[in-house]
Amino acid sequence: MNADLHCHSTVSDGLLAPAAVVRRAHGNGVELLALTDHDELGGLAEARAEAEQLGMKFLDGTEVSVSFGDDQTVHIVALGVDPANVPLVEGLAQVRGGRDSRAMRMAEELDKVGIHGAYAGSLKYAGNPALISRSHFARYIVELGHARDVKSVFDHWLAKGKPGYVSHPWATFEDAMGWILGAGGVAVIAHPGRYRLSKAELQQMFGVFKDLGGRGIEVISGAHSGEMIAEYANVARKYGFLASRASDFHGPGESYADLGKLPHLPDDLTPVWSEFF
Ligand code: AMP
Ligand code: MN
Ligand code: MN
Ligand code: MN
Repeated sequence: MNADLHCHSTVSDGLLAPAAVVRRAHGNGVELLALTDHDELGGLAEARAEAEQLGMKFLDGTEVSVSFGDDQTVHIVALGVDPANVPLVEGLAQVRGGRDSRAMRMAEELDKVGIHGAYAGSLKYAGNPALISRSHFARYIVELGHARDVKSVFDHWLAKGKPGYVSHPWATFEDAMGWILGAGGVAVIAHPGRYRLSKAELQQMFGVFKDLGGRGIEVISGAHSGEMIAEYANVARKYGFLASRASDFHGPGESYADLGKLPHLPDDLTPVWSEFF
């Protein structure tokens, strides 16, 4: 099955509206899609309605921002959650609540290195202060002409250790897992190949995740090289994790992979969607 269980719409930092994401996925041959906006459930009703119209399978999802260890950020994808579950809805609202003040602090730091007006400029892209993310800052900095693409903005200004990076407390691992499992969802570690964690820290993170009821890992991710796919397939075998396939699409021309345009899972792994279909 062509499943793609991780992507973004304008309800977080994607470029396409929820229904447009679904139409593009369908056009690309996707048979099962999950929309997973950052700490948001607001696009799911629109996306699900469009998927039903097109006869495509759909899972309600979100990608929860979690703080781990010494100022590390880990993303946990929740699949098959009930979007009306009150603790989940309230928990995510609380996580989003910190974005606006963080954005103001980022803008202050960027101002010191000659990038002016970044709060207002980025807010123009985000639309809503509760959704403002580094991606919106990156688009504004490209607009100013300081960099040719979003990727180089991260490399110069927004990645950890760069001048516009501001550390921020996201959800705790315990809270995020409680909300996801309480809402009937399956929790999946997003893009494990992207974290700047040592091998030992990664293993520790997988252990904590599993102890808290985590079930899945993105073996195939738009951000993964062939080597990473082999490495995280082995992690799935070792921990007994279900395997996910995930583009992490944000928009045309702005992502590692387009919707559904990904390698297939290794044959011996159990797909995470076998929990649902
Ligand atoms: P935030 O949640 O505001 O910290 O923003 C994180 C988002 O920035 C991620 O979800 C990605 O969409 C994007 N991002 C993070 N690192 C990079 C990178 N190196 N290149 C491009 N986009 C990135
Ligand atoms: Mn994003
Ligand atoms: Mn992510
Ligand atoms: Mn994502």
